[in-house]
Amino acid sequence: MSLEPVLAEIDASLDDALERLMTLLRIPSISTDPAYADDCQAAADWLVDDLKSLGFEASKRPTPGHPMVLAHAKGEGQHVLFYGHYDVQPVDPLELWNNPPFEPRIEDTPKGKVIRGRGTSDDKGQLMTFVEACRAWIKVHGSLPTKISIFFEGEEESGSPSLIPFMKENAEELTADVALICDTGLFGHDTPAIVTQLRGLLGEELTIHGPSKDLHSGMFGGIAINPARVLTKIIAGLHDETGAITVPGFYDGVPELSNSLRTQWDGLGFEASEFLGEVGLSVPAGEQNRTPLEMIWSRPTCEVNGIWSGYTGAGFKTVLPAEASAKISFRLVGTQDPEKIRESFRAYVQSCLPADCTVSYIDHSNGAAGQMATDHPAFNAALKALSDEWPKPAAFVGCGGSIPIAGHFKTILDMDAMLIGFGRDDDQLHSPNEKYDLECFHKGIRSWARILAELA
Ligand SMILES: [Zn+2]
Repeated sequence: MSLEPVLAEIDASLDDALERLMTLLRIPSISTDPAYADDCQAAADWLVDDLKSLGFEASKRPTPGHPMVLAHAKGEGQHVLFYGHYDVQPVDPLELWNNPPFEPRIEDTPKGKVIRGRGTSDDKGQLMTFVEACRAWIKVHGSLPTKISIFFEGEEESGSPSLIPFMKENAEELTADVALICDTGLFGHDTPAIVTQLRGLLGEELTIHGPSKDLHSGMFGGIAINPARVLTKIIAGLHDETGAITVPGFYDGVPELSNSLRTQWDGLGFEASEFLGEVGLSVPAGEQNRTPLEMIWSRPTCEVNGIWSGYTGAGFKTVLPAEASAKISFRLVGTQDPEKIRESFRAYVQSCLPADCTVSYIDHSNGAAGQMATDHPAFNAALKALSDEWPKPAAFVGCGGSIPIAGHFKTILDMDAMLIGFGRDDDQLHSPNEKYDLECFHKGIRSWARILAELA
């Protein structure tokens, strides 16, 4: 089945595709606010009906929260599962919107036409790029080029409480050869990106306890141990002078960047000074001899997220504090084991404790990094398809944060996921005046049409 007429159909019917997207955008499916529960149902119903009209076997599946939408189409060859979410963020502060958030419209801006409204980029506009690509294939050829299932969630913006149980209960139905997730963006303005590595996270909160109560620093200063000094010394010892993390065994499982990824990343033209300039900084402060992109994508970190002790109110109090606390997080990569690192970190802290001091901990989040198997043929197929559509060649990129759904596909369904999206950095996700560029919507549809052709 040839691709060209499918792309022509997408171009010819763009206005109809926009009209459908507008209808979905008008449904205020805010998942975190119970007042909008019926609207979440309505958005799921609308998607089910639309997918049924394409010939998908589609259904709305109840959960204890908002429903899932699950749809299957017959097809030959590779089985792909597409994921997106139909729920949106709340809209406050409402007064900062230039037009009502659920009355979407097309606007002319100096940078081109944009679709303005809540959910345009995150994630209704993005998920409809895939649905519209399927529609074009079916209209032109009567069927899809590969076997496709679609999975839409309605709780992504409210912590996905039903997701893991639903995935476990429906594992067989959800498992495909590869998953496609459309909830990310382009790299820069027009470099299509496939996120293939996501950093994990380990969070530790520790409190150093010393004297039985806060002391007067005139009476006890000099003779009593000060937990604030103990804590800051522990923290200071977590990095050496090259910026490397000193916790024993910390780097076990940290891979070196492959040559092919290094070449791709070098070609992205990432400017650290520009990136840091946005936040009033100028010089990368990570490990020595690492590129800026390695620092944010492929190297692990240890950071102090909060630290407190003693008297911090107005004025001055000559207190010698009874305890001192900090929240410390580690971003993890490769196959670093969060539990081993937690043990090793605690052993290091223990080794630093002077007489009369004890330590207590609170466990916080803990999740391993995600590394996609990019040697799966689907990854190179998608890379080629995206490079054919956009002005710049596509790249495998990292993501410094975590995108939990990708990890769940791997751990629960043993499925690799390709994170491909067409958002831009200035889309104002979760903020007033959210937008999605019309070009991104149009080229996003064309991109999926090409990817499906390559996967076939
Ligand atoms: Zn999203």
